[in-house]
Amino acid sequence: MISLIIYCFLVYLLAGVGTSVGYHRILTHKSATLPRWLEYTIVVIALPAGTPIQWVGNHRAHHKYEDTERDPHSPIIQGFWYAHCGWYLSTKNQLLSFLYALGGPLRMILDSFLRPRSNQEHNHFAKDVSSVSFYRMISAPLIYNLILLLYLSVLVLFFWFFWKWNGVLALWISLVLIYNLGDAVNSFGHLYGNSKGGSSARNNAVLGWLTFGDGWHANHHKKPNLAKHGIKKSQVDLSFLIISLLRKCKLVDKIQGYEKN
Ligand SMILES: [Zn+2]
Ligand SMILES: [Zn+2]
Repeated sequence: MISLIIYCFLVYLLAGVGTSVGYHRILTHKSATLPRWLEYTIVVIALPAGTPIQWVGNHRAHHKYEDTERDPHSPIIQGFWYAHCGWYLSTKNQLLSFLYALGGPLRMILDSFLRPRSNQEHNHFAKDVSSVSFYRMISAPLIYNLILLLYLSVLVLFFWFFWKWNGVLALWISLVLIYNLGDAVNSFGHLYGNSKGGSSARNNAVLGWLTFGDGWHANHHKKPNLAKHGIKKSQVDLSFLIISLLRKCKLVDKIQGYEKN
């Protein structure tokens, strides 16, 4: 049972590094520069969160149009469930969004078809990403589809092989938690916690800890390009710790705002 928990935690760690470090801080905000091979590796790990082009485009649009009609996911304008995960399905149906949020591995199957096809309207904000042939390739519908189904097959078979139905259930719960923690930054992160500087974005301690520092969302909206989202000592920022560790290993060239913080 201990080994099952460790492997679930490993999936959570990989998802956090891929999404928070890779997609969010490196690819979207250029908060740090990694060698290409490492950047590509981390981005490939993050693929279940969406295609790199679509993820970066939507997130940059979120910062640009924060809490206006053009924000892709604002809980203040479009409601909690739409901002949480309904926007992936372009639906304001709360039951559908709720079922999708609990989908876990089933959500991954649906996403493998949807993510390269839906939410593409802000791709023009990610021209630097789409200009890289590797990112174009893994964002293509068929390739993305195959990679995601391969990921899911490997995960399900691995957990089934060692722990049978207990393993599959634990994987399901882990995936539900991982997806919803990421989505919570867009929903809870603009509703609950301490706000700062006139933005609706909040510093939420629970999210700060669990989402690798992305939950220090008010800090982040104030200075989006800074690599460090947890500014105070008490604001633990796991992604920044990982980026700092990579820097110590001489795998990061430049960290935005590192000297100042
Ligand atoms: Zn935000
Ligand atoms: Zn951001």
